[in-house]
Amino acid sequence: MPASFIDTARISVRAGKGGNGAVAFHREKYVAAGGPDGGDGGAGGSVVLQVDDNLSTLMDFRYKRKYAAENGADGQGARRNGKGGKPLVIRVPRGTLVRDAETNEIIQDMSGGEPFVLCKGGRGGWGNAHFATPTRQVPRFAKAGLEGEARDVILELKLLADVGLIGFPNVGKSTLLSVVSKAQPKIANYHFTTLFPNLGVVYVDEETSFVLADIPGIIEGASEGAGLGHDFLRHIDRCRLLVHVVDVSGSEGRDPAADFDAINTELAHWSPELARRPQLVVANKTDVMTDERLLDALRAHVEPLGIPVFPISAASHVGTRELVRAVAEKLATLPPVTVYEPTYVPRPPTPDADEPLEIEHADGVWYVAGKWLERLMANVNFSDYESRMFFDKALRDNGVFALLEERGVQDGDTVDLYGLQFEYQR
Ligand code: GDP
Ligand code: MG
Repeated sequence: MPASFIDTARISVRAGKGGNGAVAFHREKYVAAGGPDGGDGGAGGSVVLQVDDNLSTLMDFRYKRKYAAENGADGQGARRNGKGGKPLVIRVPRGTLVRDAETNEIIQDMSGGEPFVLCKGGRGGWGNAHFATPTRQVPRFAKAGLEGEARDVILELKLLADVGLIGFPNVGKSTLLSVVSKAQPKIANYHFTTLFPNLGVVYVDEETSFVLADIPGIIEGASEGAGLGHDFLRHIDRCRLLVHVVDVSGSEGRDPAADFDAINTELAHWSPELARRPQLVVANKTDVMTDERLLDALRAHVEPLGIPVFPISAASHVGTRELVRAVAEKLATLPPVTVYEPTYVPRPPTPDADEPLEIEHADGVWYVAGKWLERLMANVNFSDYESRMFFDKALRDNGVFALLEERGVQDGDTVDLYGLQFEYQR
């Protein structure tokens, strides 16, 4: 199973379309002609992302790649408005980065608890009841609902952990996690038992705790894609401290100092920045250590680099308490876990020459419609001044006003863009 399936996923999401406004007329016995009473369409459902701490991988997204929220219902007569579409909530593991699939910009870092609206539902169209004015007593038109936002995004899991365990397979990383936290990772005496990252909370004392992540073992050549491990390195991208576990038992004929270097070389290939992250070294399996010189050699190799070495036996819980304290003390001196700021800059939809604007002049109002305009309007926040200025510029730059002039619009005429009405001023 390629590891990348659970670390990143590309999905397409679409918010619901707004329901159409209704054209209807009030009817009652003995009343000759009732007024317009068509209700509004309901808003389309939005697509919302929400952190779920029961999830630790992006596995689910391997099987389902398209997500769509419900459309709004159409309005009906007697001023009955259509029901809004239900929002679609997509659950993601904490620490999921959401990127724009085309530009790779960060849209959102799902590391807090707040839900995030990824795609806004389309606005419902106005029913003809809205268009009844003294001069337009019998409006036969209503407005169509707007399309919901749609986008392709890449999800990328970067676990939210203070400490990441690194080291060769089988050195005892999962055992250590299970001993110092309540997490129950798979432990077995063969390589690559950990296929999914495991998180555990380590309680040091009443006030102090930290989150420890166990990721699948890194193997030599992993950063060149030689095997599992490469993709998993992104999981520890945010860790403030790396606990580097080395097997000093000599049982597999390994040289601890060489192992230490090999893992760091892999890290540096993946990310020089990650390789510079503070480390503590854990010399594990001291209970079955056959040659103490291996431990001495490791110390002599590592301590001059300013990295302390903690001899422990995870399996027999020796030295783990001291290790946990040292980790907490080190963490207290380090900056908090990185939260990524969004870099995504919304771009205005571009006009499509295949779908020209349509202008209709009825009852003294100029109605402008078109796919591009519809998309543009779905993207503008009309309660924000900057956004309104941007909208005005987009209309001007794309020839909307020029087109209206060509058709004979006069100062003071009413212009209607999908229900948004304003008085035309040159
Ligand atoms: P990981 O691949 O680094 O996660 O290693 P595991 O935690 O799965 O452990 C691999 C094997 O080493 C298992 O059989 C463990 O029981 C064993 N092991 C882990 N820690 C110790 C230890 O301190 N002493 C001894 N003797 N065996 C250990
Ligand atoms: Mg493991």
